[in-house]
Amino acid sequence: MTLISGRLSRIKPSPTNMLTGKVAELKAAGRDVISLGAGEPDFDTPANIGAAGIRAIEGGSTRYTPIPGTMALREAVCTKFRRENGLDYKPAQVIASCGGKQVLYNAFMATLDPGDEVIVPTPYWVSYPDMILLAEGTPVYVDGREENGFKISAADLEAAITPRTKWVLLNSPSNPSGAAYTRDELAALTAVILEHPHVWVMTDDMYEHITYDGFEFTTPAQVEPALADRTLTINGVSKAYAMTGWRLGYGAGPEELVRAMTVIQSQSSTHTSSITQEAAVEALNGPQDFIEEHKKMFQERRDLVVSMLNQADGISCRTPEGAFYVYPSCAGVIGRKAPDGVTISDDSAFCTYLLESEGVAVVPGVAFGLSPYFRISYATSMEELEDACGRIQRACGSLR
Ligand code: PLP
Repeated sequence: MTLISGRLSRIKPSPTNMLTGKVAELKAAGRDVISLGAGEPDFDTPANIGAAGIRAIEGGSTRYTPIPGTMALREAVCTKFRRENGLDYKPAQVIASCGGKQVLYNAFMATLDPGDEVIVPTPYWVSYPDMILLAEGTPVYVDGREENGFKISAADLEAAITPRTKWVLLNSPSNPSGAAYTRDELAALTAVILEHPHVWVMTDDMYEHITYDGFEFTTPAQVEPALADRTLTINGVSKAYAMTGWRLGYGAGPEELVRAMTVIQSQSSTHTSSITQEAAVEALNGPQDFIEEHKKMFQERRDLVVSMLNQADGISCRTPEGAFYVYPSCAGVIGRKAPDGVTISDDSAFCTYLLESEGVAVVPGVAFGLSPYFRISYATSMEELEDACGRIQRACGSLR
């Protein structure tokens, strides 16, 4: 009998977290490495939010809370949905968890039986397939092709739906492509789903507040209110409020679903930290102006990175609508030879070459289910981005 369960053989550790480990190792060995791998804002949590956390500790909010979160937090979430998305949820329809990640995990664990299918557009956030597999579901991939802006069409979606489809998982703006669906594009998808009453929508809106060039963010339950009773709307404070380490995400949907997710959570983490919950109330109810400021900085960085990457020989980079990632194609360098004679056979080989030759850490597209691409996170300073993109240009220029 082996110690480790067979469940582990179905999944792999998060490749983006692994890259963080590899970069730390190289840095410890004295290498000059720029990491463009991390999926978190480089800003500090705004001071008013931190102060709310401190007040929570000093005021003794340090005991267990209700499993789906305090009433104050769930009310703040309902107010946010009404104010920003025109969605009307009651606190009983809301669950707060340890990050958006645990909301997704709870939802899959609460709903999937072996053989149930989840439609996952590619390129996808690395954790989706493994969470679905852990819950014994089957991911069904639909390619968001580059020529379609890394988005799936209504026809693609229709073709992927089977009698076993339980969920369609949408993520807009997307990690890793930065692509975001317009209202019309979403409406085309929700129209298909409306026709299939057994299919539910799980929408991961984590990057809602990071969109550019006046892009109007919309979410499926808002675009098609008739779908609200089959939709789980997921969001969180990690990205918009620079609170990745606090661990708070939330989901809203039909009460029966939220109750089932709460049972799963009651037998794992119980709830996220009481201190975090108070800080998140301040994040959601307090001043929102720094969101605009962060967005402006991200947009400058996006423009720099897109422009410099498009000047690298063999790389082509689309301008994304949101998030803080670009997903350039490296098709033009595949088959070329590095100075040491090694052939760049795929996106993984290209990313290894970038790390070894120029000390730039990026994540290969294979980790996100769509090759030959790589993901760059531009949540870092303009100086570092300029340096990194210069190195990528040099690395590409050395290929023959
Ligand atoms: N969803 C997407 C698309 C993400 O990129 C991330 C984090 O990288 C998450 C969910 C999870 O965020 P958190 O668990 O920090 O709320």
